[in-house]
Amino acid sequence: MALIVQKFGGTSVADIDRIKAVARRVKVEVDAGNRVVVVVSAMAGVTNQLVAHTRAVAALHDAREYDTVVSSGEQVSVGLLAIALQELGVPARSWLGWQIPIRSDGAHGKARIESIETAELARRLATGQVPVVAGFQALGPDNRVTTLGRGGSDTSAVALAAALRADRCDIFTDVDGVYTSDPRIVAKARKLDRITYEEMLEMASLGAKVLMTRSVELAMKYRVPLQVRTSFADAPGTLVVDEEGIVEHALVSGIAYSRDEARITLVGVADRPGVAAGLFGPLAENSINVDMIVQNVSHDGTKTDLTFTVGRADLDRAVALLETLRGEIGYARLLTDDKVAKVSVVGVGMRSHAGVAQRMFKTLAEKGINILVISTSEIKVSVLIAEEYTELAVRALHAAYGLDAP
Ligand code: ADP
Ligand code: ASP
Ligand code: MG
Repeated sequence: MALIVQKFGGTSVADIDRIKAVARRVKVEVDAGNRVVVVVSAMAGVTNQLVAHTRAVAALHDAREYDTVVSSGEQVSVGLLAIALQELGVPARSWLGWQIPIRSDGAHGKARIESIETAELARRLATGQVPVVAGFQALGPDNRVTTLGRGGSDTSAVALAAALRADRCDIFTDVDGVYTSDPRIVAKARKLDRITYEEMLEMASLGAKVLMTRSVELAMKYRVPLQVRTSFADAPGTLVVDEEGIVEHALVSGIAYSRDEARITLVGVADRPGVAAGLFGPLAENSINVDMIVQNVSHDGTKTDLTFTVGRADLDRAVALLETLRGEIGYARLLTDDKVAKVSVVGVGMRSHAGVAQRMFKTLAEKGINILVISTSEIKVSVLIAEEYTELAVRALHAAYGLDAP
C-alpha cells in the first residue's frame, strides 16, 4: 500500500466528462489498495478569466482582493471532483487551503507555502477517505486567502507530498511528459524518460510551464519522487530524478522560452556607486523580481544606460515605482518594451563543454535574429529577443543542438 498524491491540471478537469474521467482514474489507485490525496486546479481557462476580471476593474489593484477572486476557480473544481468520486462509491471530501490549513507567507499573488497541518488529512486517509485539495491557494498570516503564483497547483501537490511523506507525486497534464522543448511549438520535440531535478528546475524557471519552478525546488529539497504524465491515457511519463539516475548526459537537454518578460531601459543614469542598489533594492522590497541586467559602459564617465527585465505582469507596478524614484536615482528617460521573449538553452553537459553559447549566437545570427540581452549560468544560456521571433528561434536552436526527433 502506497501513499500517492495525484495532481490534475486545468485541462484535465476542463469539463464534466473530464472530471468524471479523473474520478475513475483516482478510483483505480484506491481500488489497488493505495491511499490517495488529489490536488486539482481550476477548470481550464477559468483562472485567466478571473485575472482578466480583476484587471478590467483596475489595472493596479489590491493583491489581497486579487487573491480572493482568482482562488475561487479551485473551489469549484474540488467540489465537483469530490461529488464525482462519491458517485463512484469512493468516500471523498473537498478541502480548501484554509481548511487544512496550508499556511503561506503574506506575499499575495505569489505566496510561498510555509507549513501544512497534516494531522486531520492523515486521520481521514487512515479511514480510507480521499481528500480532494484545492491547489494554488493557502492561508496567509493575516488569515486571508493567498495564491501561490500562476501554475501554483503543482507546488501545492509537491508540498503536500513532502509533508505527508508520500511515496509518489504524479502530475497529470495535457502532454505525456517533459519534452526537449514545448511540444506545442516544436513539432519535433522529443519526450524525455528522465530529467534531473536540476535541469527541470532550470527549464521551469526559464519558462517551461509544464511544472511550476517552486514545485521542482520543493521536490528537489525533499526528494519527492515526481512524475509528469498525461491524464488522457495510461502511459508512463517523465521521471524527475537525481543526477545518478541518468546514465548518459546530453550536452543540451532542452530549449525553453518565456513570453512573460518585459524590458525596462533607464537612459542617462548617473554613473556612480549606489545607483544599482537604490534601484534594485526598492524593486525587491516590492516583490518585483528582476531577471536579466545589462549596464552599458559609460562613455563620458558620468552617464550610462541600464537595461533589465521584469515579469510582464509586474511591468505596470515597476514603472509606477521607478517614477517615484526618479528624483533619487536621476535618469533622463524610461523606456519599456513588453514585446520581448527570453529563449534559453539548458543542459548539465554544458559544465564540461565549451562552445554552447557560440553555437546559440551563430544559429540566431543565421536566422537574422537580433539579441537584446544575454545572461548565462553554469548550465544555461539565455537571450532576450523580439517576441515575434520566438518560435523561429526555439525551432532553429532545437535543430542546431541535435534535439530534433528523427
Ligand atoms: P496544467 O494545466 O495541467 O497544469 P500547463 O498548461 O500548466 O498544464 O502545462 C502543460 C503545458 O506545458 C503543455 O501543454 C506544454 O505546452 C507546456 N510545455 C512547455 N514546455 C514544455 C516542455 N518542455 N515539455 C512539456 N510541456 C511543455
Ligand atoms: N489555476 C491556477 C492557474 O491557472 C493554478 C494552476 O493551474 O496550477 O495558474
Ligand atoms: Mg500548470
